[in-house]
Amino acid sequence: MKKLVTVLGATGSVGASTLQIVRENPDKFQIIGITAHSNVSLLAKLAIEFRPKFVVLSDLTLVSDLETRLAHLEIEILIGEEGLDFLASQKTDILVAAISGFAGFKPIFKAISVGTDIAIANKEALVAGGHLLMPLAKEKEVNILPIDSEHNAIYQCMMGHHWGDVEHITLTASGGPFLAMTREEMHDIAPAKALKHPTWNMGAKISIDSATMMNKGLESIEAAWLFGIGREKVSAVIHPQSIIHGFVTFKDETIISHMAPADMKVPISHALGWPERLKIQTEKLDLTKISGLEFMEINHEQFPCYNLAHQLIGEEPCYAAALNAANEIAVSLYLENKLAFGDIYSLCTKTVNMIEIRSLDDYQSVIDYDSFARDIARSIVLSL
Ligand code: NAD
Ligand code: MG
Repeated sequence: MKKLVTVLGATGSVGASTLQIVRENPDKFQIIGITAHSNVSLLAKLAIEFRPKFVVLSDLTLVSDLETRLAHLEIEILIGEEGLDFLASQKTDILVAAISGFAGFKPIFKAISVGTDIAIANKEALVAGGHLLMPLAKEKEVNILPIDSEHNAIYQCMMGHHWGDVEHITLTASGGPFLAMTREEMHDIAPAKALKHPTWNMGAKISIDSATMMNKGLESIEAAWLFGIGREKVSAVIHPQSIIHGFVTFKDETIISHMAPADMKVPISHALGWPERLKIQTEKLDLTKISGLEFMEINHEQFPCYNLAHQLIGEEPCYAAALNAANEIAVSLYLENKLAFGDIYSLCTKTVNMIEIRSLDDYQSVIDYDSFARDIARSIVLSL
């Protein structure tokens, strides 16, 4: 029987890789719903190809264009946040959470609530609301399958093993485009340079997060929630070749690592196919052609964002939610050339230091707090 799949963020980089896997495995999956923020032409093209039951477009102003393009098909067009929530509330076998940013939190919450398994790429939702999403998944007996390559690596390393035997998990980082630069040299660097990642081809937000190394900090928080571990059990190292994506050190000093080509199709196919493995088209990893694998400590003076995020593991969840909100504001301002690269850290650290602590006990409190922290971050920008 085909797995019924919903893809949130179908027009993005993870969305594209997901749909390519579906294309390569037509007998295994049926697409029920796809969503996009504003890329109407691609959304329509994908709808014509995959014939989902639902498409969702977030940008209300573009809906008539989409209606015209899909007028000849029996596809229900939904719009805005309500449309996204409605789609996420339709139970399917698996929902691929590939929206970028906190915007993905609500639909993931809805999907878990109705018992749909989640293949999660959207780390910001876990960073801001992991303390609610993970217990809800447990209550609803929902599987949360990591797509983020490092987390998927750890998940695979742990198959057949017990968390009680684990000393430490290590996520690898390519180092991003500025590994050889000092913090001063990076301070005013242009977005076009920060967007050029050496090993991965990704959306704009995560590319900037990789350049600041905030990405590894957010991923450490993500790992803590996904695997239920404390701050001392997770860290990241730089591994410029991006061949080993994560490794687990056990109490007998055995290290189990996961290797794969730097292609998101590998972790996505693992999550989509789970518990089976899928045949996919990707580069072959020929270990005889690899001259060396390097591992280096992250230089915290050079990349302060990593520690800023990492130190929030185990703290009141509102801190990570505030950091995530501030970082989203900072990255979007940077991409608009309204904030210096070096000020992304300043804005984030100032926001985390200024926010008032609140306990985020329910869904609505997480959403309200995200808005509150964004307002604080915007007010700080004016004084930078
Ligand atoms: P992207 O920018 O390429 O795509 C984002 C998708 O989300 C698009 O379909 C867009 O239409 C949609 N979207 C954006 N803002 C939205 C909003 N406010 N409301 C509704 N939809 C919205 O991003 P990406 O690189 O595919 O990353 C998606 C997520 O996966 C991020 O959380 C990222 O951290 C994570 N991730 C990505 C990669 C990668 O290789 N790209 C790897 C690991 C994790
Ligand atoms: Mg990653």
